Amino acid sequence: MTNNVYAEIGVSDSVYQLGEDILAKLRSRFEAIDQTAEYNQAKVIAAMQKNRVNASCFAATSGYGYNDVGRDTLERVYADTFHTEAALVRPQITCGTHALAVALSANLLPGDELYSPVGRPYDTLEEVIGIRESTCSLAEYGVTYAETPLLPDGSIDYEGIRKAVHSRTKMATIQRSKGYATRPTLSVQQIGDLIKFLKELKPDIICMVDNCYGEFTERIEPSDLGADMIVGSLIKNPGGGLAPIGGYICGTKHCIDRCAYRLSAPGLGQEVGANLGLMTQLYQGFFLAPTVTASATKGAIFASAMYEHLGFRVVPASAEERHDIIQAIELGSEAAMVAFCAGIQAAAPVDAYVTPIPWDMPGYDSKVIMAAGAFVQGSSIELSADGPIRPPYAVYFQGGLTWCHSKLGVLMSVQKMLDAGLITL
Ligand SMILES: *Cc1c(COP(=O)(O)O)cnc(C)c1O
Repeated sequence: MTNNVYAEIGVSDSVYQLGEDILAKLRSRFEAIDQTAEYNQAKVIAAMQKNRVNASCFAATSGYGYNDVGRDTLERVYADTFHTEAALVRPQITCGTHALAVALSANLLPGDELYSPVGRPYDTLEEVIGIRESTCSLAEYGVTYAETPLLPDGSIDYEGIRKAVHSRTKMATIQRSKGYATRPTLSVQQIGDLIKFLKELKPDIICMVDNCYGEFTERIEPSDLGADMIVGSLIKNPGGGLAPIGGYICGTKHCIDRCAYRLSAPGLGQEVGANLGLMTQLYQGFFLAPTVTASATKGAIFASAMYEHLGFRVVPASAEERHDIIQAIELGSEAAMVAFCAGIQAAAPVDAYVTPIPWDMPGYDSKVIMAAGAFVQGSSIELSADGPIRPPYAVYFQGGLTWCHSKLGVLMSVQKMLDAGLITL
């Protein structure tokens, strides 16, 4: 029966059957993911109950937003879920990069050094930091930057770190997810060990974790293991697909106070910032986030197992532990990237009739292809795929608000590859 409805939207019996065969071997993995989701769901509900979330929290405010109960309570819910003293969570934080820029610029002063012990950070941070010369970068304000790359096997270079930390090293930035790089994603435990090491070297170092794409993939977050700040985007995991905008910074009261003064103005801090009627989506999205993240994680593992079976290199491999929702698949050619992305697009609830093509995206040195048919523009907790058109021709696959949609996306991508004569089953 299910194969009939799939046939109607273009997935052949043979592709469907291959999917079922691969899935049969993933059942125990999926069960473990459901257990993580169950744990995290309870954690979120407990934080909502403790803070007495009620209908008044969903009321819209405008103007200055003084005494905004919905906003203030949401921030307490985030702080209690992630076990931090304080949190800044609001629509005035426009995206993940903005949240990270606020966290950095609020806590670094001229003469300080920012240090990445895990190699080059995410693309958009290069301009925030000033690694690529940029107006208003930290470098322009006299904040220097240093980094220690990961070792060739992807592990942390503790000896290198010992040599790199000095008296001006004010803050460490630790990126959890591999993002669009080829390095492995760090587990929360690895991040915790790294933070412990850094604090032994320099007890007053501020440890900030770029938590993008990692939230709720494990039972603990970096803030449970010593991070002074964790930072992320609400159009990724913690927004649960419902948040239409926003970012979060959770951490120590000292760091978050400074972030609030940087985000609004010195003296105003967290007291201003109307919620603009977005509270229901932000609360409900956070409520859904553990299971949405589980769906996306299942999709990533299914994609990994399917493409591994078809002979492609996948990072991470299907059997590896997951610490984020990103799946890289090295497809080996532009034609294969185009076919794969056509499949993801064709599986979308929105814009399914368009065909993604490679284009010269500003800020990139090669053409980029992107597939997404999302309810929230650019949301990458919704099913999406993208990648630069250059060797090894890797696509980064992520998201899926429901496991069933994620599954359909993977099946459709395989179908398009098959139709283009790029694979045999
Ligand atoms: C997405 C992402 C960011 C930036 O978030 P935007 O919302 O796209 O600005 C930063 N770091 C990592 C690791 C990310 O995945």
